Amino acid sequence: MNDYNYLSIETKLIHHPRPALPEGNTPLVSPIYQSVKFKPVSMAHARDILSRRGAGYLYSRMSNPTVRELEVLLANLQGRDDSLATGSGIAALTAVAMTFLTRQDRVVVFTESYKPTRFLLGGILSRFGVETIRISRDDYDQFDALCKGENPPKLVFLESPTNPALRIHDLDRVIASAKSCQCLTVLDNTFAGFMHHGNFDIDLYVHSLTKQANGHSDAMGGVVIGRGELIDKIFPVAMTLGACLDPNSAWLTLRGMKTYGLRTKQASANAMDIATWLTLQPWAENVRYPALASHPDHEIWRKQNKGDGGAVITFDLRCHESRFDQFFDSLKLFILTPSLGCVESLAAPCLLFFADDLPVNEALKAGINKMTIRLAIGIESSDDLKHDLAQAAIAALS
Ligand code: PLP
Repeated sequence: MNDYNYLSIETKLIHHPRPALPEGNTPLVSPIYQSVKFKPVSMAHARDILSRRGAGYLYSRMSNPTVRELEVLLANLQGRDDSLATGSGIAALTAVAMTFLTRQDRVVVFTESYKPTRFLLGGILSRFGVETIRISRDDYDQFDALCKGENPPKLVFLESPTNPALRIHDLDRVIASAKSCQCLTVLDNTFAGFMHHGNFDIDLYVHSLTKQANGHSDAMGGVVIGRGELIDKIFPVAMTLGACLDPNSAWLTLRGMKTYGLRTKQASANAMDIATWLTLQPWAENVRYPALASHPDHEIWRKQNKGDGGAVITFDLRCHESRFDQFFDSLKLFILTPSLGCVESLAAPCLLFFADDLPVNEALKAGINKMTIRLAIGIESSDDLKHDLAQAAIAALS
């Protein structure tokens, strides 16, 4: 600004010159575009931005360059055209449901799903005339019948592995039934991660970025990934819901993604070691980890997941019910909290945290009882983690 020197102090404070980087003088790390607003080049450019995403930036609730960098990376990792990042995983799920469901539509959700997903569909959208049908992972015949019947479902929401009991879906089977009636498949791929399931004909992938993507427990986020034409439909709904991801969280997630491969590999190796060890402990029963041959869905998992068992283990603690809390209160390294996918190891009581909305018989069918514990393994030494679990079990047994 040539006439900067002639401006008054009040104006200078706001409209000061900015250093422009010489061409090719690129920063190693992208800046955080911590700006809500962007100046279009012209009115014509403003019109162009408003008519399509990615033509430039105007307002960060619509789009932001830092967020866009993350969206492009994640769509590419999952092997799809486009993605839309949101402020949390549940915001991504909400945006999908609000885009594709309307009054009198049917939606299927599996009982073995994240509790807020069940509530979103069965507790919130049902108030707007959407009929939510909840079925078990073991009731594919019921899903087939719904797909063949009158008023087939518009959407089916599923997870694989499921949270928290780690059931594995037969994706080909669910996809085939859904396709037969033009039902969109929405796979919450948070547990499996970006490197998995891209080869399946899933319509929309949802991830909570709060987990492995960020990895350091310091930012929340979500993303929906899919064909451009579907993401374009979700975009105006997500924007109007205010579901946007803020640039600072996007930047923290971009940083987390640089070590995603290393962290997930290490956590998965730790989890395999700990799960194998748990099967030998007299105080642990019903140990569930998809990479163990004893897992009920192990064969499907082997076909679908290319050897990465993930970082979550579920098991039932064998002690007197009254000593269950003592196990958690005695842990020194594992942290009693929900969530997963971070560098720290976490432990969660499944019924209290993830299934207190379910009738007892449904919770039991979904693999959750009063003594069920979910471990989300981090990247500490697995020997230290085993030691911590053993000493907490001794405390619970004494
Ligand atoms: N989906 C799954 C499978 C989850 O485990 C979670 C959170 O634990 C979510 C979605 C929601 O993610 P967020 O907490 O980022 O909203």
